[in-house]
Amino acid sequence: MSKLQIKRAAVLGAGVMGAQIAAHLANAGVPVLLYDLAAREGDPNGIVLKALAGLRKLEPAPLASPASLDWITPANYDQHLEQLGGCDLVIEAIAERLDWKTELYHRVAPHIGDQAILASNTSGLSVGVLAQALPEKLRSRFCGVHFFNPPRYMKLVELVAPPETRPDVLDDLESWLTSHLGKGVIRALDTPNFIANRVGVFSMLAAMHHTVRLGLGFDEVDALTGPLIGRPKSATYRTADVVGLDTLAHVIDTLRDGATDDPWHAFFEVPGWLQQLIDQGALGQKTRRGVYRKE
Ligand code: NAD
Repeated sequence: MSKLQIKRAAVLGAGVMGAQIAAHLANAGVPVLLYDLAAREGDPNGIVLKALAGLRKLEPAPLASPASLDWITPANYDQHLEQLGGCDLVIEAIAERLDWKTELYHRVAPHIGDQAILASNTSGLSVGVLAQALPEKLRSRFCGVHFFNPPRYMKLVELVAPPETRPDVLDDLESWLTSHLGKGVIRALDTPNFIANRVGVFSMLAAMHHTVRLGLGFDEVDALTGPLIGRPKSATYRTADVVGLDTLAHVIDTLRDGATDDPWHAFFEVPGWLQQLIDQGALGQKTRRGVYRKE
């Protein structure tokens, strides 16, 4: 049993993952402050409220138990930063951009409690580089905690630590994730995209490459890479839409920029057609249009 006591948590970012991680924490009985940017002037909690409304729809599968949603409190960085001081665990889940994450860390770090753990849900940015944006006293309580989508159902969590992280912080967090959230934790090295996305993005890029080379349709490739090979829920393009095409592109960029000694490095490029969809704002399920269109 974990020695760690998480009486209250905060999640920074109410996007695809942040909202669901908050829901998963709430499902486990942990009250959560869910932060995001203001939607627009005069609407400071708009993004979070929209995310909560999405969770209430409980589709395509229940991501939160309905009663537990009341345990999530909307928050924004302009009005509620000091409340971070009452949180034992802060999980950052904003967009996969090193510059945006480090900028946010500068803003929130002074408000994080002296014993609290800060963890990033990054898919594969260097956790060591992220740590450099934090004051020294917080670095020993910082790590990567990579949940998979959807976090309510995906058991795997990758725990990634820069050298400064205290071993007891990692041990405690690992046993808390296991005992309270039911996760299967693996420790991954701080390499580009860690383990699962290093392999997963590679296979996705291979499927995308062959789609074009063989002139296949997206649904044909999904039929081939999904149920027919025993992966009913992980067909290539449906997964890309669930992940978010912009997030997928950032994850590919991490490989291109960081895995320069990889024998397949030349292959790590965002396909032109994928970039075109992103440029048009077709980002996947979150915008109701991606590779597929959701009516
Ligand atoms: P998303 O695009 O759905 O949401 C990102 C959120 O970040 C938005 O709500 C946005 O308002 C906020 N944001 C954007 N710019 C910001 C800034 N400058 N400062 C503060 N907030 C900002 O992204 P997501 O898919 O939820 O991904 C979040 C993190 O989780 C990323 O690091 C991503 O790599 C990781 N991740 C994603 C998945 C997935 O399947 N989508 C899976 C595992 C991990």
